[in-house]
This record gives sequence, structure tokens and C-alpha cells, in this order.
Amino acid sequence: MTAIAVLGSTNMDLVAYVPKAPRLGETVTGREFRTVPGGKGANQAVAAALLGGEVVMIGAVGADAFGVRLRAALSASGVDTTALRTVEGASGTAHITVDDEGANSIIVIPAANALVTGLEAGDEARIGSADSLLLQLELPLEAVAAGARAARAHGVRTVLTPAPARPLPRDLLELVDVLVPNEHEAATLTGFTDPLGAAEALLREVPEVVVTLGAAGALYAARGREPLTVAAPRVRAVDTTAAGDTFVGALAVALGEGRPMPEALAWAACGAALSVQRPGAQDSMPSRADLVAFAAGQGIR
Ligand code: ADP
Repeated sequence: MTAIAVLGSTNMDLVAYVPKAPRLGETVTGREFRTVPGGKGANQAVAAALLGGEVVMIGAVGADAFGVRLRAALSASGVDTTALRTVEGASGTAHITVDDEGANSIIVIPAANALVTGLEAGDEARIGSADSLLLQLELPLEAVAAGARAARAHGVRTVLTPAPARPLPRDLLELVDVLVPNEHEAATLTGFTDPLGAAEALLREVPEVVVTLGAAGALYAARGREPLTVAAPRVRAVDTTAAGDTFVGALAVALGEGRPMPEALAWAACGAALSVQRPGAQDSMPSRADLVAFAAGQGIR
């Protein structure tokens, strides 16, 4: 089994469904409210675990009811939560408003996630025994950098999803093996709105870049190689939440199984295509059996 370490966020998503989002100062009556486990770190961990990865989640939840549920959701998907701390105070939350057009606005309160500022005892060993370390930007940058340093020291592949997008220090990028921005994040990081221009600019900092392009698939660029486009299977998308996280989780599992990058990317695109056909974040992610069957239908092993 592929061992994968995730150093990242856990959030409870608090989702209000409204006909029309309120303007400042306005009160509206909504249709429905749901609480669903999320956070980019936890989402990637669940995606990889459901696909057969042996996943350890490093991070923190708060000492509240959400923390208990967030941990339980990870465990139920097969993620090892022994390195997920319970810290004093609140768990991270994302306050999401979704209107009838499907447009959303989101407030993220990092809470417990903000208290993860570095590695704790045992974390370096957990990272060191993994095949890949998955990182995102929902934890303080010091923690992300500490994780990347530990991975580099042990020769572990670091895969960074630069979301939410923000300028990144060069000494952090130098520790990244595979950078996986979506096209908006790639533009924010480089100033180039065309994915190829952005990928080429990013290759000055990292050896491999995958720019995800929604329904258009992904663009893969590596130093000294011709860029490659990866098609997304054509499907009817109902909810693209966590498509990118499913893509990264699947990519890490496939790379860990020794598949070459083009094959791993095709597999990841199949995994993400399955997730967009179902509503939800972690709830929408495919099992390994689902993905194997779907990929076979697409002519992918
Ligand atoms: P994010 O979810 O991070 O914004 P993208 O929107 O680029 O990232 O989606 C990530 C991946 O999910 C894409 O590279 C693609 O493989 C898959 N995907 C997203 N939207 C669709 C869609 N409508 N149909 C098929 N695949 C999709």
C-alpha cells in the first residue's frame, strides 16, 4: 500500500442554501443548512485513503463537538488520525453560502488550524516513511515549510496545492517536487493567465507542475520535457467541490504505486471526474472499486 502523509487543514463546512445571498446589512430566509466535514488537507487525505492509500493526517482539530466529528469522519474513511492533535478552542470552520445559481461565498475561520505552526514529536518519522507528503496552504506557512523540509531530508516527494493562493517564498517552493495549482492559483502565483505561460514560469522554481483546468483537464509540465495535456473524461458535473483535492489524492496514490506521471494523471482525472458527478466534498469521492471500473470504461488501466 502506498503510504501518504498529509499535513493540512480540517474544517467543518457550515453550508447555508439560500435563494439569493444577502447583501451587507440584509437578512434573508434560507432553504437548508448542512454541516459537512471539509478542509483541503482532510479532503485530500480522505480521497487518497478511499483509493487504497495508507494515509496519516497531521494537523489539529479543536476541543469542541466539530473536532470530534471531523476526527470521526477521517477515521471512517480509513485515515490514521493519531497525529491529528486536539487543541484548546474551536475547530476550523468554513461558513459557506450557496445560492440557487450555485454561486457561493465563503468565510474560513482557521481556529485550530492556525495553531499548527510546526511539526511535533513523531511527525518527521511519519513524513519520512511516506511515499508522498501532501501540502496545501490552509495552515500557517511555517508549518508547511517545516513539513516540506522534513520530506526533503528523507527523500519524500512533496506535492503542494497552493490554495488558497498567496505569494510563496522561494525557499518553500524550492522544497516542492510537484506543484498542483488550478488555473486561477497559477495566475495568482505568476501573473500569467495562460496556463502554459504560468507553468513555464513555475518551472523555474519547481521541477514538475500540474495546472488543473476544470472540465478541460490538466496541463503537465516538467523541466526538459514537452508539456502534456491530460483530458478530463466528459461527464455531467453537478458539484465540483473538492474536485482538485480528489485529483491530488488520486495522483499521490497512483504515483506511489509506481505509475509513470502521464498514467497517474489520467487516473487522477478519472477520480476527479467521478467526484464532480456527486454532490458534496468528502461524500462525493470515489472508492477504489468505482475508480477502477470507471477508468477501465475510459480505456485507462
Ligand atoms: P479546483 O477544484 O481545485 O478548483 P479544477 O476545477 O481545475 O480544480 O478541477 C480539478 C480537476 O477535476 C480537473 O483537472 C479535472 O480533472 C477535474 N474536473 C473538474 N471539473 C470537471 C468537470 N466538469 N468534468 C470533468 N472533470 C472535471
